[in-house]
Amino acid sequence: MYAAPFAFTAEQEGLRAEVRELLHGDAVQRELAGLRGLRPQPLPRAAYRALGARGRLAPDWPVRYGGLGASLAEAAVVAEEMALCGVPDSARVNTIDNAGRTLLAAGDDRQKAAHLPAMAAGETLCCVLYSEPGAGSDLGALRTRAVRDGQGWRLSGEKCWNVGGHAADYGICAARTGGGASRYAGISVFMVPLRDGGVHIEDVPGVIPEMFQRMVLDGVRVPDDALIGPCGGGWQIVNDALTLERTGVYLYGRARRWLDLLDRLGAVPRSDERAVRLSEELAAARLLAWDCVARLASGEEATAEAAEAKWWTGELASRVARLAWRTRPAWEDRCREGGARGADPAAAELADALCEAPALSLAAGTSEMMLATVASALLDPARPDDGPVPPDGTLGDAAEAVV
Ligand SMILES: Cc1cc2nc3c(=O)[nH]c(=O)nc-3n(C[C@H](O)[C@H](O)[C@H](O)COP(=O)(O)OP(=O)(O)OC[C@H]3O[C@@H](n4cnc5c(N)ncnc54)[C@H](O)[C@@H]3O)c2cc1C
Repeated sequence: MYAAPFAFTAEQEGLRAEVRELLHGDAVQRELAGLRGLRPQPLPRAAYRALGARGRLAPDWPVRYGGLGASLAEAAVVAEEMALCGVPDSARVNTIDNAGRTLLAAGDDRQKAAHLPAMAAGETLCCVLYSEPGAGSDLGALRTRAVRDGQGWRLSGEKCWNVGGHAADYGICAARTGGGASRYAGISVFMVPLRDGGVHIEDVPGVIPEMFQRMVLDGVRVPDDALIGPCGGGWQIVNDALTLERTGVYLYGRARRWLDLLDRLGAVPRSDERAVRLSEELAAARLLAWDCVARLASGEEATAEAAEAKWWTGELASRVARLAWRTRPAWEDRCREGGARGADPAAAELADALCEAPALSLAAGTSEMMLATVASALLDPARPDDGPVPPDGTLGDAAEAVV
């Protein structure tokens, strides 16, 4: 008989139940129902605050910074449960997984104390300023520059595809501070304030429910302590933070949710052969994603595993969305008030999913780039063989290793 390679601890199951209960609270459910179909889709602030007030938004962060002092496995439990409950997640990913984790890994004590508690509470939001016209998959081609200006820095350049930039308090920005032996040397990471008018922010309409922004930094001055981590050492920081976003746990959760919505709407019942097959593949994808979480939680380097998990879960979620698209005559008239059977929140959520789906194989690294990462790892003879993870099959042990 097949045995799962890991088991959740009682504490992790407890955390999952608690998060689900918080997200099913009246205020959060009202908020979620109200944001479906709106463009740009408002951020689910009530949901983030409900979790943040109890340390559940960033459970792996130290208690003094607003977390629970738990591990990455607990963070993944929260991310997965948010997806399964239909909570839009890009602001959490940008704030907690990207900006927050960058600060935790590379910031000094003062920077951490200044920013992390409000981020963990869901009060301060961040966006990610990495991509540029001409520097997306190939981030090493980025041209935004930061030059020394007295005690601070001046940043100049153009950033694009910055989801959530209109509502963010800070942008975590990659900029060139110098040259070096390779094009990846000399990149640094800055925490750029976005509320004081220094950065020109422009909406870029697109199909995704949340709006894209384009940002122009025209000699924007930031203080010295906006620099996070070593000057010129940003490449590693950026990549480490992205690896976490690529575990695929959230993508699995979205796809599972969409399949459940199709069942709830009677469009593709659970017993339908297509749903059965996709459910089986989703169960396998979940194992892949959690295997990756376990590796990261135990401190392993897992760039290739994360790329594999991101590729597979992203492509699978796209296939679930394609099924929703093909079966839309069975549910789309229920998206709008005044439709034949009136508005149905499940139908409205599925319509949003169709707008989100094309991005799944692009955001956080395209499917082609994920496959290229896997291929390079396979071709690298120095890479050690994979062993079973985690030590005795529990995520709890993996968790303890990093607390
Ligand atoms: C929904 C969404 C949200 C995003 N949010 C943010 C954000 O908040 N902040 C941010 O900075 N960026 C964000 N991005 C940008 C995202 O990271 C880039 O779109 C992505 O890295 C691809 O870059 P690009 O769009 O410039 O495409 P390109 O890099 O120009 O790629 C175009 C095509 O060529 C393929 N390709 C490129 N190079 C290779 C290669 N070497 N081998 C094989 N194929 C290749 C790609 O796979 C792709 O299909 C977001 C994107 C999306 C879709």
